[in-house]
Amino acid sequence: MTSSASSAPVSADQHLSERTPDVIAVDPHCSGVKCDGGDGALGHPVVYYVFDGCDHVECKYCDRIFVRR
Ligand SMILES: [Zn+2]
Repeated sequence: MTSSASSAPVSADQHLSERTPDVIAVDPHCSGVKCDGGDGALGHPVVYYVFDGCDHVECKYCDRIFVRR
């Protein structure tokens, strides 16, 4: 048996350079959401989004995604 399970070096240091967007579930009866980015460095001016027929909206400031469900 010559074949050895050679563990090829896998570059495990692939950092996700982008933030993983938070997905926030909101009440399905809501017509819109308010987002201020939360606390800390992610904070941003308060913005309001309306779903406008969609099931989700994405905050253009902090990339949070609000999903009605
Ligand atoms: Zn936001």
